[in-house]
Amino acid sequence: MSDALLSPDQPMTTQEVVEWTKKLNYGTWRYQKSWNPMHIVDAEGCYFTDANGKRYLDFSAQLMCSNLGHKNAAVIKAIADQAQKLAYIMPSYATDARVELSRLLLEVLPEGITKFFFTTSGTEANEAAFKIARMYTGKTKIIARYRSYHGSTMASIAATGDPRRWAMEPGGKGQGFLFAPEVNCYKCPIKHTYPECGIACADYLEHMIENESDVAAVIVEPVVGTNGVLVPPKEYFPKLREICDRRGVLLIADEVMSGWGRTGEWFAVDHWGVKPDILVTAKGITSAYVPLGLCATTGKIAEYFEDHFFAHGHTYEAHPITLAPAVAAIREMQRLNLINRAKEVGAYLGEKLKALKPKHPSIGEVRGLGMFWAIELVRDQEKKTPFNTKQDKVDGKATVVDQVAAEMLKRGVSIQAWISHFVIAPPLIIEKAEIDTAVDALDQALAIADKAL
Ligand code: PMP
Repeated sequence: MSDALLSPDQPMTTQEVVEWTKKLNYGTWRYQKSWNPMHIVDAEGCYFTDANGKRYLDFSAQLMCSNLGHKNAAVIKAIADQAQKLAYIMPSYATDARVELSRLLLEVLPEGITKFFFTTSGTEANEAAFKIARMYTGKTKIIARYRSYHGSTMASIAATGDPRRWAMEPGGKGQGFLFAPEVNCYKCPIKHTYPECGIACADYLEHMIENESDVAAVIVEPVVGTNGVLVPPKEYFPKLREICDRRGVLLIADEVMSGWGRTGEWFAVDHWGVKPDILVTAKGITSAYVPLGLCATTGKIAEYFEDHFFAHGHTYEAHPITLAPAVAAIREMQRLNLINRAKEVGAYLGEKLKALKPKHPSIGEVRGLGMFWAIELVRDQEKKTPFNTKQDKVDGKATVVDQVAAEMLKRGVSIQAWISHFVIAPPLIIEKAEIDTAVDALDQALAIADKAL
């Protein structure tokens, strides 16, 4: 690789693109020396293509965000049209794009959520939620749960209960965040069994509120994403809503990953008919064509700020180029009936994945909802011992799930592997035949995990 400045007459080789990337950029959430990025040059529908022309079926919608698939003509047109018309204006002005999107949100968000603050990421939307909750209640503490992910900035990482956050803590120590046990009926952290437990994890959370002063809000991912697609039992959310109401604590639903049809409803809370006080989302809101996050509140919270100072904002909040494509993306979801599709085709996907379990001793559990699934790998099905330990990560070795994912890439399928599980969340437009291809590849690749037992 030459250090000479690039000239347009000298196109870079793939090797140069990769080497310059590693030299000049940080690879996130990793040891830098373990970063060996693929050079991706194109994407269409459920596929993306590398510089050698090899196509990959995208079985996790990138980071569970490319819900509409790539190269959707309506969304691309909306970006171009908005760029021509009004690329940027500061957020204190009114724009057509913001009103159009806000009115459309009233159609699809849970009833009662009526006031919107637009950001450029899920992380920022959670930061806004914490500040709004603290300003509105005059209280400080936020109860989150273990095995959660809420973002990577100071407060959102402090609210994150991901077991890998030991690596993040030097930058992520935050004040006022407490953790309740996660809801995980496969491996209950408080050693109960559903349904005899009577949802004791929610009682534990109430016990925390009772024994702490100054609790402003509880934040939960209605279906936990990064930490393994943990779907709560049907009683959990209504019970949590009732506890929050009774204790005067706000309920924040982090639907960054679980929103926008991923679970077979517009939002995961819709499965249980629960209305949060604050709903946070991002990712699928634009199907990842442009970066947009949303912190949405009830009218009651909004009313408070009529005569209290709303002390929050960004230069790029409600950026018109992020809003216009969101309108197009949501209308495309409606036109293509993607919520029902996620339900129907997602059920097919779930059956195919569940059929893998009897064939592979390394599979601990297959679980999910709609087009949102996880396969958790274990060393021992009886003891449910995960493959990866903290020590594996310290050594920076490729973990077993990483090895399986690498084998799948060789077979032309991309899948997200984290901790000791895969998150399977394809674009909502995926066809059953494509699911068959991807599940076949997974079936073959899992031999690596079976052998490692
Ligand atoms: N909350 C949840 C539930 C998420 O899954 C994520 C991202 N994976 C975030 C927040 C942070 O969103 P972003 O990466 O857009 O900042």
